[in-house]
Amino acid sequence: MSNAAIKTAPADALALPMEGLKGQLIDGTWTPARDGTTLDVVNPCHRSVIAAVGAGKKPDADAAVAAAKAAFPSWRRMAARSRGALLTELANRVAAHAEDIARVLAAETGNALRTQSRPEVQSTIEVLRYYGGVVSEQKGETLPLGPGLFSFTTREPLGVVAAIIPWNSPLVLAAVKIGMALGTGNTLVLKPAEDAPLAVIKVAELAADIFPKGVFNLVTGTGEDAGAALSGHPDVAKISFTGSVEVGKLVAHAAAGRIARATLELGGKSPTIVYPDAATPERLDALATNVVNAMRFARQGQSCTAGSRLYVHRDVFDAVLGKVVEKLGALRIGDALDEATDIGAIINEERYAAVRDFVREAVEAGGEIVTGEVPPELSASDGFFPRPVIFKNLGNDWRVVREEVFGPVLVAIPWDSEDEVIGWANDTHYGLAAYIFTHDVTAALKAAERIDAGWLQVNRAGGQIPGMSYGGIKQSGIGSEYSIEGALEAYTARKSVTINV
Ligand code: NAD
Repeated sequence: MSNAAIKTAPADALALPMEGLKGQLIDGTWTPARDGTTLDVVNPCHRSVIAAVGAGKKPDADAAVAAAKAAFPSWRRMAARSRGALLTELANRVAAHAEDIARVLAAETGNALRTQSRPEVQSTIEVLRYYGGVVSEQKGETLPLGPGLFSFTTREPLGVVAAIIPWNSPLVLAAVKIGMALGTGNTLVLKPAEDAPLAVIKVAELAADIFPKGVFNLVTGTGEDAGAALSGHPDVAKISFTGSVEVGKLVAHAAAGRIARATLELGGKSPTIVYPDAATPERLDALATNVVNAMRFARQGQSCTAGSRLYVHRDVFDAVLGKVVEKLGALRIGDALDEATDIGAIINEERYAAVRDFVREAVEAGGEIVTGEVPPELSASDGFFPRPVIFKNLGNDWRVVREEVFGPVLVAIPWDSEDEVIGWANDTHYGLAAYIFTHDVTAALKAAERIDAGWLQVNRAGGQIPGMSYGGIKQSGIGSEYSIEGALEAYTARKSVTINV
């Protein structure tokens, strides 16, 4: 399918439930940016402006942090199970408004409603329900130290948490931060990405009268203005950042300057390794579906865990590639709000141009496109719909194989020995995820042991599930999320009390 063939509905035909959208939530009150400026939020399928939100800056960040600081003493004293009940109430409200929220999410991110945005809302509900139940397990330890002497520990919240999130999965990432920070007794200032703040604002509207004022605050604005003001704020005890490695380093520096805590969930360049036994004729179909899913093609590859380096055993290389191309060809690219669409749009012009540069450079250097094309130049009204690209005949040292494209570009490379392929898999500064496809349990476990990544999946290509600890190693990040262990480690401090009886 060529880009010219893609038809998008006019913006005014979307009937988005936008009338309730407001600006920033600070100290329980909806407030525009203090300097009165706004940021346009654009639907990447049409390039139409769908809303304008407050362009918050340092004074807005300062006000939100002050509100969160004032709310902390009483919020931390609320019983953990009572805080959990409020998270569960938020989950129930999101469930009651799921379709409206999913439509807003699809419109602002370009992530297809049916395949991506509705499932993301369901994951958001699951995450909030998970933390709603499990935060009452905020337990410490007891240590007998000798006759009449023992120590016990409690898990104390840190204070004000600033959470900064990206545009690609804004809703579920907001839920993770809300669940972990508020559940453990911290107060929160959340800053969504400037490209996709609207669905998060919808959730904040639902949350506004659940939590006491100042406990949950939302500041909208650019990273340079609102994000930097939050990460450098002296009263922010902990920063939870999800985004690029580049910005993650800035956030880490800002935290280091005052010895604040930081959790960093950053980028990836994850390998997918296919063993020959996973591609027998009867398994080939399911395998190809998994490879397409691991690459997150249905969200235009815009996922930190995209399995964008496909290493296939040479004996089955052609068969696997052929089937993956067939599966990809069956997916329909189009308007994110169209029920028939499998793959929506890329988020913005800058990202579209970056993807085009990656593909063009690899083609000019001799890479062979198996399917797809160099994304064409667009006219000012075209949506950002590149066709998925699969490359072969590229070495492991090419830029498109080493750097995170954050777009629909997969590179397939044949392998002959396990040592070779695991060496390639580990030859990266990233260490977020990896996918292993084999039904040989020993081979799978050996590979899982040897691959340097925070999250390995064997014969599965789905997303994170609440309860599992998820986080990157190397430059993919520090800390883990999605689990109660991760929340306790990252959002609380141990206090030891030693008693001589
Ligand atoms: P980004 O780093 O550009 O922006 C992320 C957030 O940081 C946004 O809210 C942005 O406004 C803010 N920001 C920008 N500059 C800032 C600054 N100087 N100080 C403070 N905040 C600032 O990332 P993006 O382009 O929005 O998202 C894509 C990246 O996120 C990819 O690298 C992807 O792999 C990563 N990501 C990682 C995970 C994970 O779980 N590891 C999940 C999703 C996305």
